[in-house]
Amino acid sequence: MAILLPGGAGYIGSHTAVELLNQGKEIVIVDDFSNSKSEVLDKIKQITGKDFKFYELNYLDKESLEKVFEENDIEAVINFAGYKAVGESVKKPIEYYINNVSGALVLLDTMKKYGCKRFIFSSSATVYGERKEVEYTEEMKRGETTNPYGTTKAMIEKILEDIYTSDPEWSIGILRYFNPVGAHESGLIGENPQGIPNNLMPFIMKVANKELDHLNIFGNDYQETKDGTGARDFLHVVDLAIGHIKALEKLEQEKTGIYVYNLGTGNPYTVQEMVDTFQKVNHVVVPYQYTARRAGDLPIYYANSEKAKKELNWVATKTLEDMCKDSWNYVQKNSNK
Ligand code: UDP
Repeated sequence: MAILLPGGAGYIGSHTAVELLNQGKEIVIVDDFSNSKSEVLDKIKQITGKDFKFYELNYLDKESLEKVFEENDIEAVINFAGYKAVGESVKKPIEYYINNVSGALVLLDTMKKYGCKRFIFSSSATVYGERKEVEYTEEMKRGETTNPYGTTKAMIEKILEDIYTSDPEWSIGILRYFNPVGAHESGLIGENPQGIPNNLMPFIMKVANKELDHLNIFGNDYQETKDGTGARDFLHVVDLAIGHIKALEKLEQEKTGIYVYNLGTGNPYTVQEMVDTFQKVNHVVVPYQYTARRAGDLPIYYANSEKAKKELNWVATKTLEDMCKDSWNYVQKNSNK
């Protein structure tokens, strides 16, 4: 019996693969390396000392995907194969809808064909949309999404609800990630975006490594935050990966049902706190300047993480210092400079 990880060579997929292998689970990874590198597979093996099967394929390719189900006894699927750049999704909506939504549908249809009905989906806090309340609880309705990336997440959540309604033998976990950062403490796997990053931590990493000359802090006049800079619920990717293990255990226990969990620490940090902490714990300089607010940014939001704590026995244990140290350790071990 194995857990299938489409997109398992990516940032969150690879960290989850490590935790699953550490738990003694058998895994199968499929990935097309559209946003990851093949070396990651060896790194996962190096960290865990364990082996696993791998197929290079795009999960839209149903024939190849069916072969994976023919050749392996897949008991559950954790889907990481999605495009995730907000800005890019605005420029390439068709690609995002095809890859994220059609890809998920091909995957779910294939699962159905092979009688595999346990599925965990990487969703996002973005499905809450813009709202007055800044602490998001799972009971809140999904809001209006503001970009195609977010819409793909909301659409897939809805599709999963419809699948469960049609067949209550499914067991489905929807995990709404807040802002994952950091890297495995070995420094062997982490986030390595191509080109100029959009997200805060990858940008700080490139500035600290002198690949970019300074960080723009988008806004320092937000009334809603303690120092005027934006605030987010940053969480360590290893905590996030462990959240998937706990969600899988929950699905195994309950056998059927659809469950939604926020995965965040519940403690927002500001952009300024992130930059200051990064400099302090790593003894590096991150030059920055304050610029105008970025269009579409909310001042602050964070998870209410009580449900995951109560039902999954999951809490994020890593600190902001850990997030900053592990990110920098990863850069130092993987930089060509
Ligand atoms: N941010 C920033 N400079 C950057 C990138 C991001 O000041 O170069 C801020 C951004 O305005 C937000 C926070 O960092 O307040 C997190 O942004 P990110 O893009 O990482 O995540 P998201 O906005 O999707 O939560």
